[in-house]
Amino acid sequence: MKNNHRHASAALKDEIIGTTGLEDFSTQEIYREIIRRFDADPTRDGLERTPERVEKALAFLTKGYSEDPNAILHDALFDVDYDEMVIVKDIEMYSLCEHHMLPFFGKVHVAYIPNGKVIGLSKIARLVEVFSRRLQVQERLTRQIADAIQDAIAPQGVGVIIEARHLCMMMRGVEKQNSSTVTSAMVGVFQKQNTRNEFLALVRERTPNNI
Ligand SMILES: [Zn+2]
Repeated sequence: MKNNHRHASAALKDEIIGTTGLEDFSTQEIYREIIRRFDADPTRDGLERTPERVEKALAFLTKGYSEDPNAILHDALFDVDYDEMVIVKDIEMYSLCEHHMLPFFGKVHVAYIPNGKVIGLSKIARLVEVFSRRLQVQERLTRQIADAIQDAIAPQGVGVIIEARHLCMMMRGVEKQNSSTVTSAMVGVFQKQNTRNEFLALVRERTPNNI
């Protein structure tokens, strides 16, 4: 029964997303072929276990697909009588751009004004990880983090800012080496100028251990 069910859903998936004809090859076989196409000496020692390493690395870098952001947040909600801005800044972020499958990385700053509930601080960093360990675009990543917090605790508002550098642009010379791309998502009271400005000022303020 289980097998039938799996086959049925695989067939349905193929129908929806189309097939490549490569379904029967393993990830490692496919990477071996990619290396063969691009490298003049694909048989040298250093490349022998590369397909295996790439498969492991990719599994790690995309593990966010199998993690449920709601489950992470719902484990760590606390009732509070506090309505000042909560801010978590300089969260390290590493992701893969979905256009080139090359890294983009940088810092995420998250703020919200509670409306009776707060989230355990470490869970915000976990949330960033769940969404960044996927094939992403920076704009969507920013929005997904904001929406997940909004959905979990319905605060008065949420603001998320991501400052990131994209290797797909830097390595190909499309962008100057030191420029970063900044995206933001502002929900609820963060759409008001004064709240947004307070958030931006707090982000710009350097903490002593950050100098
Ligand atoms: Zn890219």
